[in-house]
Amino acid sequence: MAVERRTLIHWFRKGLRVHDNPALTQIFNKAEASPDKFTVRPIFVLDPGILDWMQVGANRWRFLQQTLLDLDKSLKELNSRLYIVRGKPVDIFPSLFDRWNVELLTFETDIEPYAVKRDKAVQDIAVAHGVKVDTHCSHTIYNPEIVIAKNLGKAPITYQKFLSVVETLKLPKVLDKPQRLPNGVQPIADALELEQSDVYECPTLDQLVKRPQELGINKFPGGETEALRRLDTSLSDEHWVASFEKPNTSPNSLEPSTTVLSPYLKFGCLSARLVHQRLQEILKRHPKHSKPPVSLMGQLLWREFYYTAAAVEPNFDRMLGNAYCLQIPWQERPDHLDAWAHGRTGYPFIDAIMRQLRQEGWIHHLARHAVACFLTRGDLWISWEEGQRVFEQLLLDQDWALNAGNWMWLSASAFFHQYFRVYSPVAFGKKTDRTGAYVRKYVPELAKYPAGCIYEPWKATLADQREFGCVLGIDYPHRIVNHDIVHKENIKRMSAAYKINRQVRTGKQEDEIDYDTMSLTNGKRNARFETERSTAKRKC
Ligand code: FAD
Repeated sequence: MAVERRTLIHWFRKGLRVHDNPALTQIFNKAEASPDKFTVRPIFVLDPGILDWMQVGANRWRFLQQTLLDLDKSLKELNSRLYIVRGKPVDIFPSLFDRWNVELLTFETDIEPYAVKRDKAVQDIAVAHGVKVDTHCSHTIYNPEIVIAKNLGKAPITYQKFLSVVETLKLPKVLDKPQRLPNGVQPIADALELEQSDVYECPTLDQLVKRPQELGINKFPGGETEALRRLDTSLSDEHWVASFEKPNTSPNSLEPSTTVLSPYLKFGCLSARLVHQRLQEILKRHPKHSKPPVSLMGQLLWREFYYTAAAVEPNFDRMLGNAYCLQIPWQERPDHLDAWAHGRTGYPFIDAIMRQLRQEGWIHHLARHAVACFLTRGDLWISWEEGQRVFEQLLLDQDWALNAGNWMWLSASAFFHQYFRVYSPVAFGKKTDRTGAYVRKYVPELAKYPAGCIYEPWKATLADQREFGCVLGIDYPHRIVNHDIVHKENIKRMSAAYKINRQVRTGKQEDEIDYDTMSLTNGKRNARFETERSTAKRKC
C-alpha cells in the first residue's frame, strides 16, 4: 500500500526568487533525495489584513503581482509551482499543516518587528502541530545577529565601525537555483483545489490594485527575471562599476544614473549576496577601483549597515522610544506636508522629484536627500516620520530599515549630525542639470520657462510668466516658504534641539556642556553652502 507523502513547505515572504535561496533549496534537495516520501509546496501568503496598516501604493502592488507571476513561472520550470494562500498566516497555517500532512516548513528570516512577531507565532503553531521549522538568513549578505555578536552584543553605530566588523566575517556561499524536481513529486490536489481548481493561483492586477488610476508608468517591472537582467546590464560596463562614486552620479538625469536594483533587493527578487559576489569578481579584475562608502560595493554595505542597526531597535521607524534617534520638536503643518507629498511646494526641483516618485516609484538617492532635507530640517520643519510614511506608500523599494535609517540620517536625527549642511532646493538641482530638462519633464507647467529661471520661477515678472504660459498662483503654486529665511531659522532650532538632547543624555546643565567647535564649524560650512547657492543664482 502506498504511504501518503508528507509535504515540505517553503514559505516565500521576501526572498521572492529561486536563485540563492537556501530555504527553498533545502526542501527541493530533501524532496529530490526521497521522492517517494515527500511532496513540495512553495507558498506565498497573501494577507488582505496587511492593507489595514501597511501603506502600499498601486505601483508597488503591481511590482509584487508581476514578481509573483514570474516566481510561479520559474518554479514551474523547476517542475513545481507557487501556491498563493489567502489569509492571515496565524489563521491559515494550522489548517495547512493538517490538510497537507506537513513535515517541514522553511523560510527566510526577517528583522522587521511585525515579521519577527508573526514568525514566532507561526513557529509556535508549527511546534504544536509537530512540524519542524528551519530558517535561513539570506536577505542580507551578513547575518545581523552575527555582526552584532562579533561587535560584543551591540550594533555598530558608525559605518566605519561596521566595515571593520564585517571585514572579519566569512562570506556566505552563494547558491545557484535548485535542481529541477523529479517527476512524481508534485502534490495531488487537495480538497480545496478539487472544489475550485484555481484556488492557489496568482492574484490578478485588479485584485491587488484598488485604485488603478494611481498606477504610473511601468518603468521597473517586478520579478527575478527582470532583476537578473538588470544586474547583468548594470554590471556590463566594468569600468563604470569600478569607478562608481555615488556623489558623482546625478539626482536629476532623465534616465537613472545608478543601478535601480533597490526594488529587486527589497523584495528579494535579487540576492544581495549574489550582487556582492559579482562586484567582488569585477573589482578583482580592476584593482584600481573606488572604495566604500561611495563605491557600488559601499552602497550595498550601507544596506547591511542599516539592517544591522535596525535589527536591535523595534522602534527604528519612529522618533519616540528609539535609542538611535534625537528628539526634535517638529511642527504639524498638514497643508505643507500635502504640498510636499504632491509636488506643489512651488520649488520646481523639489516638486519634480516628488512627482517622479509618484509616477515611477523610484528616485535617485540624492534626489531623496533633497526632498527629505526640504521636508525636515531644511525648510518645512516637519517630522521625518511623515516623510517616511509618504515614501512608504510611493517607493517601489520601500524598506523598513533603509527608509527609516535614511530618514533619520537626512533629518540629522541619527547617524549624521551636521545639521548646518542644508541643501538648497534651487542650487542643488542646477549643478547637474543646468538647462532644467528634468524639471520640464516632471513639472510640465514650467516647460516654457527659460533655463535662467526655471528653478526660481518667482524671479520672472508677471508679463514673462504670462508669456511662458504659467502664472504663479494660478498655473503653478507660489513657493510655500522662503528657503533663504527658513533654513537659517531651522538651523537655530536644530541647534537648540541638539543642546537639549545632549543635556538629557549627559544629565548636565547647559552651561556645563562643552559645545566643542560645532558652532564655529557650522558658521564656516554654512557660509560655503550659501555661497554655492548664490553663485548658482541667475537672472531670468
Ligand atoms: P545604487 O546606488 O545602485 O546602489 C545599489 C544598492 O545599494 C541599492 O539598490 C540599495 O539596495 C543599496 N543602497 C544604496 N544606497 C543606500 C543607502 N543610502 N542606504 C541603504 N542602502 C543603500 N533605499 C531602499 O532600498 N529602500 C528605501 O525605503 C529607501 N528609503 C530612503 C529614504 C531616504 C530619505 C533616503 C535618503 C534614501 C533611501 N534609500 C532607500 C536609500 C537609497 O536612496 C536607495 O537605496 C537607492 O537610491 C536605490 O537606487 P539604486 O538601486 O540605483 O542604488
